[in-house]
Amino acid sequence: MRDVRLVSISAIQHFAFCQRQCALIHLEQAWQENYLTAHGRQLHERVDSGEPETRKGVRFERGVVVTAPHLGLTGKLDLLEHHRATKQFIPVEYKRGKPKVNDIDKVQLCAQAMCIEEMLAVKIENGALWYWQTRKRINVELNTHLRNQTVTLIGQIQQLFEQIRTPPPTLGKHCKVCSLIDICQPQLTSDDGSKRYISALFELEEE
Ligand code: SF4
Repeated sequence: MRDVRLVSISAIQHFAFCQRQCALIHLEQAWQENYLTAHGRQLHERVDSGEPETRKGVRFERGVVVTAPHLGLTGKLDLLEHHRATKQFIPVEYKRGKPKVNDIDKVQLCAQAMCIEEMLAVKIENGALWYWQTRKRINVELNTHLRNQTVTLIGQIQQLFEQIRTPPPTLGKHCKVCSLIDICQPQLTSDDGSKRYISALFELEEE
């Protein structure tokens, strides 16, 4: 196995959102909160701080720390359910928003499940996503397609971290909700921004 640094499970969401944001957070340790990240953090803190308990044959463990060197991941699960009758483990991830059109929440959940599989030598068939905005729990089947997507994405993040180079900004709609916009300065440093800046200089000279 290659000697690669462990990827934080949270990097999966960051990488899917913007590769530059992922590198700023995980390579350069940059962080800044906006109302979206603050709300998400509060939600996770509430969930993670609950005491373990058993109800109706289900054990609920919160804030479960995981490390899976073979998979190359480390991180924390919001909630891990152990259903004693079926002997099934079910990871549950809490999200502040509503279900996304892409699969990234499912990929993050699958990564969590695969960590538990590696640590406990068990097979996990399903996980669940709980969305604060819609107050709905969605069952997610951890099928082969989702597992392949997850492994591919972890590999891409490892490659980004091995390069030890923060990618340039990709100025777009996502920047409007990015908490790192003041640190990133995408309007100044993206390709388009530089071109506009250079043309503006020449326009000034021509006057
Ligand atoms: S401001 Fe835009 S380009 Fe910069 S890190 Fe955020 S999303 Fe990425």
